[in-house]
Amino acid sequence: MKHYAAIIDGKPLRVGSDFTVCNPANGETVGRAPNMGQGELDAAVSAAKAAFVSWSAQSDAALQAACAAVTAKIEAHSAELAELITLEQGKPLNGMGSRWEMRGAVAWAGYTSGLSLPPKVLQDNEQGRVELHRKPLGVVGSIAPWNFPVMIAVWHILPALRTGNTVVIKPSPYTPLSTLRLVEIMNEVLPAGVVNVVTGDDQAFNLGGAMSSHPDIRKIVFTGSCATGQKVMQSAAETMKRLTLELGGNDAAIVLAEADPEKIAEGLFWGAFLNNGQTCAAMKRLYVHDSIHDAVCDALVAYAKAIPVGNGLDEASLLGPVQNRMQFDKVAGLVADAKGRGKVLLGGEPGEGLFFPPTIVSGLRNGDALVDEEQFGPVLPIIRYSDVEEAIRLANDSPNGLGGSVWSSDKAMARQVASRLECGSVWINKHGAIQPNAPFGGVKTSGIGVEFSEEGLAEYTDIQVVFV
Ligand code: NAD
Repeated sequence: MKHYAAIIDGKPLRVGSDFTVCNPANGETVGRAPNMGQGELDAAVSAAKAAFVSWSAQSDAALQAACAAVTAKIEAHSAELAELITLEQGKPLNGMGSRWEMRGAVAWAGYTSGLSLPPKVLQDNEQGRVELHRKPLGVVGSIAPWNFPVMIAVWHILPALRTGNTVVIKPSPYTPLSTLRLVEIMNEVLPAGVVNVVTGDDQAFNLGGAMSSHPDIRKIVFTGSCATGQKVMQSAAETMKRLTLELGGNDAAIVLAEADPEKIAEGLFWGAFLNNGQTCAAMKRLYVHDSIHDAVCDALVAYAKAIPVGNGLDEASLLGPVQNRMQFDKVAGLVADAKGRGKVLLGGEPGEGLFFPPTIVSGLRNGDALVDEEQFGPVLPIIRYSDVEEAIRLANDSPNGLGGSVWSSDKAMARQVASRLECGSVWINKHGAIQPNAPFGGVKTSGIGVEFSEEGLAEYTDIQVVFV
């Protein structure tokens, strides 16, 4: 069994204690990761702070070239990282699984490398010249979740590097190994201390909390649950850290009466069940017009029945297990509760170990736990509606506001409804499709700030205005 090392100041570091990372498909040990404390975090932050001096002084072209070199490294190691993601996260190699995650990671890294934020001249006349410059912040702390370990690490690290910051990243205790390897690979082409990684099991020591309050970390980019995001914000307040918080969602999709059930079934399925529903902007509530409700349910169930679920290393699998016991129990509890309130159209019974089959439950309403809470797993509640105003009201009746979608053959009508949804991204006839040139973020309790594009890049900088 492999003992993975953290990378601090360009060097591998193992500590006295480490923790086991298990394959959710069979419970077998994948490897062991270092269980770090305040001392190792301080060492990582000091290394990043020292590296910032020369990293941030580089020309824009040099930073761009360094990010391109990092991208090439990630691409060259895609197959190896995909296998590690499958082993520790559970998603299949095939389909929209770990190879797909790696293609996304490479695409995002490449696109972000090519972005820039040149100075702007705000005024240049006889009264004087005024310029807006964007300056790096210093050490960026990245705290990541377990659903897309490598892609989200790339979303956090690349924009930080591109804008001249240095990084300390902390992956989730459930999926630390692919991030440890990713950072090791990055360090083959980066100066020591520019990207560091720390890991911990979140038991005796709260590493993420210690990062959020660390005096030498200038920004936290956090992706995870709303509850933890709130804690990060609280502990970051004292040091006035910059924050990007990408938090939970409970995305609604509205199927209008004019939609074609057969045509939309595939898009609805993957909108909801991508990565087994363990996706921040997955469709988590489906509102269907009365006139086509049964036809949509039938088409969706027929499509879902054909999806093979199994060990992610098996090329035939398109969905794997739920990632961890806590999430599995949450899904099982919500399904058990929903059984008494609605009708289970597909699935509903837990499988072996952490496997839970794709589950679809109709006849539910707002107020039922499966509708109101973020399930973050392979179960979709369907809610019947008869009046589109009611559907919009029900869709917006949530503290979250990450994504949303509207499905119809009448695109103009769909756009009108979409414009009234309270969420950061809204899709017509698809759900959850994000891309590196479009800002992504949540409204309401789903977060603060955005990632991707120049808008996301700007969040890794402070503005300095120069009056000449
Ligand atoms: P989580 O909040 O439990 O954990 C996220 C990270 O925070 C982990 O690295 C964890 O170790 C760390 N952490 C734990 N306690 C902390 C504390 N007190 N202070 C700082 N950090 C702490 O989330 P998760 O279960 O790993 O991920 C699932 C959640 O993430 C879902 O709600 C999902 O919707 C959300 N998510 C959002 C996005 C997005 O872009 N909006 C993307 C992916 C996942």
